[in-house]
Amino acid sequence: MIKKMGAAVLAILLIVLSGAFFQFQSNLIQDIRIKDGRLQIHMPEKAVCVQEKKFTFSENRNPLILQNISIFVNDKLIAQTVYQKSLRYYLPVNLFPIGDLPERLRGEVLQIDGQTYLSINDIEQALNLESRWDYTLKTISMSSGNPRLQCQRRDNAQPAMIRLEDFTAGGALLTADICMKYKIFADYLYQNNVKFHVAWIPRFVHPSEGIDNDLMFNDGIENVGFVNLMDHLINRGAVIGLHGYTHQYGESVSAEGNEISKEFNTMPEEMETLVKKGLQTAAFLNIPIDFFESPHYKATKKEQNILSKYFKVIYEPYQGTWNLNPLVSHKNNTTIFMPTPLGYVHDRDGSQMVRRLKLNQNAKMQLSSFYFHPFLEFEFIHLKPDGYSYNENSPMHRIVKALKQYGYETVTVKDFTDHLP
Ligand SMILES: [Zn+2]
Repeated sequence: MIKKMGAAVLAILLIVLSGAFFQFQSNLIQDIRIKDGRLQIHMPEKAVCVQEKKFTFSENRNPLILQNISIFVNDKLIAQTVYQKSLRYYLPVNLFPIGDLPERLRGEVLQIDGQTYLSINDIEQALNLESRWDYTLKTISMSSGNPRLQCQRRDNAQPAMIRLEDFTAGGALLTADICMKYKIFADYLYQNNVKFHVAWIPRFVHPSEGIDNDLMFNDGIENVGFVNLMDHLINRGAVIGLHGYTHQYGESVSAEGNEISKEFNTMPEEMETLVKKGLQTAAFLNIPIDFFESPHYKATKKEQNILSKYFKVIYEPYQGTWNLNPLVSHKNNTTIFMPTPLGYVHDRDGSQMVRRLKLNQNAKMQLSSFYFHPFLEFEFIHLKPDGYSYNENSPMHRIVKALKQYGYETVTVKDFTDHLP
């Protein structure tokens, strides 16, 4: 009798498990190729595009006038007065030979006393200028930049995905030199047609040093320089996502600590609050958000399911499933869990990732997706008074070369969500 019952339990267990397996399989996105310049995938039949739960946010502050910022163009002082709004500096367009306004602007078009003002990044973009910032002297020097040419995209290719990790207005990213190096790095990726993601931590907190850099309220030149860098990255094709809100809890430091896990912010209301604050900061700065990534991938399945109500892409594997290809949530049939099976670059020359890209070049069962800490790259970039040098032995130079050699093209989460019906 007991034996019979055991067999029955086993049979039921097998049925349940195989049901779960098929459900999981049916929601995987596989056979991913790039053809005719587009990502070719078959979305699972059940996939739907539902409206994401959105927070409403409206806060419009008046521009401030600043009279201590000196703007130079080709070494000539052209202005000492700027307007500041939402962490962007604005200059009157009549100072520049701008014909038509650029189609896509990062900042606003401000009308002040009958004059039209554009943000510094929009002026740079319109006239192909580069800016060098000095936060101590409060000077911004603009000069002609390199033409922004992109190489050709390969047609029949294997997709690869790159995410730049732990981007935040704290530590070294509050120095003008590191921001400049980040721009040079992004220009290099852009010129090589490498699409990339940036995992942004909106608020940098370092409790033991008394630092709490909330971009909604701290309007120093370092934060304006940081937003100018973000605008630059977006113009070079960066797809930005929220990487937590502070990426810490209690006394821990941003980018080191945990924020969403089985210990911290476990209540739906707590998570809702931090998601809301992150999205509010993004809306205030006009930064488009296209994914969420939990700090150290520590969100529990339950927490991931709550996050799925707000984001079309959770850029981490689904807990318990550890999918190696993108997986459409079985809970809402919309949110894509985007894994990073190739891990991250931790050596100084990128050789380990080059080997992984080689091994994975024909793989169908796992996406060639990885993440990278840009600080590894910066020691290979040297700023000079009139330009820079960029050592071709840098990890990203080697990785970009490998991507070309092994037949990859980079794609972004937006290429996937575009396929949602
Ligand atoms: Zn992180």
